[in-house]
Amino acid sequence: MEFTGGKTQSYLGGVYVLRRHISLSILSLLFLSGFLGCNLNAQVSQKPPSLGIPQAPPLVGDTVALALEAQNWLVELLKINTTNPPGNEQAAAKYIAGVLAKEGIAAEILDLAPGRSAVVARLRSSAVADPSKALLLVAHMDVVGVDRGKWSVDPFGGVIKDGYIWGRGSLDDKSMLAANLAAFIALKRGNVHINRDVIFLGTADEEQFGDASIKMLVAKHWDKIAAGFALNEGGKVVLGKDGKVQYVALQAGEKVSVNVGLTVTGRGGHASMPTKENPVVHLASALDKIGNYSTPVRLTSIVRRYFESLAPLEDEETSKWMRVIDTPDRGEHAQRFLADANPMWNSMMRDTIAPTILEAGFRGNVIPSEAHAVLNIRLLPGDTIDVLVNDLKKLVNDPQVHFEIASEGGLAAPNSSLENDFFNLITRVSAQEFGGAPVIPFMSTGATDSAQLRLHNVQAYGLRPFPVSEADDARVHGDEERLPLAAFPKGVDLVVRIVAEFSVSR
Ligand SMILES: [Zn+2]
Repeated sequence: MEFTGGKTQSYLGGVYVLRRHISLSILSLLFLSGFLGCNLNAQVSQKPPSLGIPQAPPLVGDTVALALEAQNWLVELLKINTTNPPGNEQAAAKYIAGVLAKEGIAAEILDLAPGRSAVVARLRSSAVADPSKALLLVAHMDVVGVDRGKWSVDPFGGVIKDGYIWGRGSLDDKSMLAANLAAFIALKRGNVHINRDVIFLGTADEEQFGDASIKMLVAKHWDKIAAGFALNEGGKVVLGKDGKVQYVALQAGEKVSVNVGLTVTGRGGHASMPTKENPVVHLASALDKIGNYSTPVRLTSIVRRYFESLAPLEDEETSKWMRVIDTPDRGEHAQRFLADANPMWNSMMRDTIAPTILEAGFRGNVIPSEAHAVLNIRLLPGDTIDVLVNDLKKLVNDPQVHFEIASEGGLAAPNSSLENDFFNLITRVSAQEFGGAPVIPFMSTGATDSAQLRLHNVQAYGLRPFPVSEADDARVHGDEERLPLAAFPKGVDLVVRIVAEFSVSR
């Protein structure tokens, strides 16, 4: 079912729900103040009302008004065409630096390639930074291309229509960029004391992971982004058919993409006199074996927790198998059932191999002397490509077939912890925000910038804080990408609250 604005609660309704769940904390003071119509910006130096709980400075103002401002930033960002390639992220970086400058925050534009830049800004907690405590708010500024003929509106027009904000990047990832910006600016406006540095980062080249990507930032500018914790894209808030949040998937790990080339050399020649050495035949046979091969299942701790937490939300049959996925007697059948039921679940349980490119021949009557294929392999965190390629060599068992691992292959990043304070805080605040919805640890089968951060010991978590239906979610990277207007302020509110709770001194 399509999600429509009319099916969601009004924002104030959302606040009402929040207020029922929120514990008596500094944030309840904040919301109480907002509810009573106080101007928190003017209140910064005043004492909050005494409710018999420890007093702390007010944090940030009314997030409804803030979200409206952030919606304008989002619209402006959507109008900046950052289709990658070529990217042109510098224009978005300059726009963001301009927004921050108006708040008295000096952002730095880090040029990575012609026309391609990242933007970084920092709120300091003390004269001497402690990178191990710092919180990094990450979102990417580039977007994938569009097939303009399949769009009913200008994908780079920042169009608001029929209860949606339309445009390439409205879900992936400019909305998170705007929400991060809002949370960052809220801290500055709140004039509060923070107990850790908070860093805002807009990255470039996330979609292609090339020379202007976070890889380059990490290599050249690590001191500017070094952090112990990060909030990024990669998760999602799933809206059910009843218009309520079904669950929040919080990404704590991701698979690693590696391309492996297959080359077969053999005897070419006249097609009228074929031999058994025809490279086309050898390559086809190798791909047939690989295509029918199932790599072994390995359940990581995140994936175990994922199925365990998702089980109560699924239909009876699916739920039954999710509950026994790790048992010695029924585990194997359960894994098969779930792998068949959903390709993403299959990919979460094992390394996957997808042949994606096939090249051979140039004329109908000539047997070529070479044939090529590319396999796109997605490794589970902790698995290594050498081991898998050795297994494939044994499986193919053909000396004419040569395997080559692309040097560009991603490194296997470790998972982020499911135990630390930041993880627990995101879990608690997200559940509060969405009426007690379960928060489920999640591993992405695709890639985000977080892998590069996790390789440097950053505890990075992926959220996409806006509640959207599966139908809306399916437009990511597709036609008519759009974000429900009603979802945006909720996402902004969630990010503001997470950032404030984690970084404001009590
Ligand atoms: Zn993205």
